[in-house]
Amino acid sequence: MMSPAVLFRDGSRNTLLKTDYLIVGSGLTGSVIARTLTDAGRDVLVVDRRDHLGGNVHDHSHASGVRVHTYGPHYFRTNSDRIWDFVTRFAEFYKYEACLKSLVDGEHENWPIAASYIAKHIGKDWKPQFTGEPGNFEEAALSLMPRQIYEKFIKEYNEKQWGVPASSLSADLCKRFDVRQDDEPRLKPNCKHQGIPLMGYAHLMRQMIEGVRVELDFDYLKRRGEVEASELTIFTGPIDEWFDFELGKLAYRGQQRAHQYLTDTDYAQPCGQVNTPMHSQGPAIRTLEWKHMMPAEQAKRIKGTALTTETPYTPTDPGGYEYPFPDSANAELYQRYRRMADDTQGVLVCGRLGEYRYFDMDQAIARAMLLSERILKGDHDADRLPNG
Ligand SMILES: Cc1cc2nc3c(=O)[nH]c(=O)nc-3n(C[C@H](O)[C@H](O)[C@H](O)COP(=O)(O)OP(=O)(O)OC[C@H]3O[C@@H](n4cnc5c(N)ncnc54)[C@H](O)[C@@H]3O)c2cc1C
Repeated sequence: MMSPAVLFRDGSRNTLLKTDYLIVGSGLTGSVIARTLTDAGRDVLVVDRRDHLGGNVHDHSHASGVRVHTYGPHYFRTNSDRIWDFVTRFAEFYKYEACLKSLVDGEHENWPIAASYIAKHIGKDWKPQFTGEPGNFEEAALSLMPRQIYEKFIKEYNEKQWGVPASSLSADLCKRFDVRQDDEPRLKPNCKHQGIPLMGYAHLMRQMIEGVRVELDFDYLKRRGEVEASELTIFTGPIDEWFDFELGKLAYRGQQRAHQYLTDTDYAQPCGQVNTPMHSQGPAIRTLEWKHMMPAEQAKRIKGTALTTETPYTPTDPGGYEYPFPDSANAELYQRYRRMADDTQGVLVCGRLGEYRYFDMDQAIARAMLLSERILKGDHDADRLPNG
């Protein structure tokens, strides 16, 4: 059957794309939902405004053969067998357990901080600086360590990352690190499954969405009239952009990425990620050396090395949105948008940008699996906020 043609204001014609389920965004959230609905026999169309699949987990090959994670380093890890079985259905993973360093006083020190470092620089009887219930990020960090250590590793790193004084940040941010009493250097030693897709994330995402109709370079918010969804539109872009920023913009931080390729050395740093936590080291917060994140056999064959230095900034273009800003004003603004989204029939706004939440990849997959189950049962409204 021929699809009907749409007449645009400028007089041009295009074919109306019809589907039961329209998924806006081919990141992990959109792709997991697309896969699950398609496997259940539903008619699905995915559109993405970028020219590639996979959202922020996308990666690409540098001319040297080095695989670069386009939107920053992505270390896959999960404790869930179900999520691991799901991702390994589409691609083989090789074991990769991230070990990070912080460049402090000219030395590469463990990150998270090793207790032995604190003992060496402060003394064996060191104690955390702060006791009591922390009211902000600074107090929460000082409840883990002495002030001198906090000032070298944490304070200025977070001020660079968020662009505000550390004392104005939320205490919850401290949940992402600890002090290693046993000096364990791996970022997540207790995570059951860890790795990186052997043929890259772009390959993983292509495989995940195989057989699903996809339109790239398609900004849904600019081309709504070209597509019609009879059952549900699942929007995984920024929730404030969906509403044309009607209540104001939610704040985000992003990273500007500067790349370099060194031909005269095979390795430039001791591990994949080296943090530069002090203001005196410049505005960048970390440098990635991608060869460390590749299987040793592949990395050995590559001459030279590719590095990416990341410098935080406040993006105005939604394409650069990476980290939701962790403060109460933005949390409240998000809740107002959430109520509006919940009141909009026929649309589910979800994913890291739609729910204004930092999700690790496994959390994004778990959430998308849950939402898919609800969509299939017809109760995707299950966790809509009560009105009021
Ligand atoms: C710098 C950084 C590092 C990270 N590192 C890790 C890590 O090491 N380990 C880990 O587990 N997780 C990591 N994450 C988290 C991971 O990136 C997310 O879990 C994942 O990207 C969430 O996928 P998503 O589909 O919700 O969002 P996205 O990947 O952002 O996908 C949303 C998609 O929607 C599209 N879109 C938006 N608006 C429109 C529109 N109007 N029309 C059409 N398409 C649209 C976008 O182009 C995008 O492709 C990291 C995140 C960041 C920012």
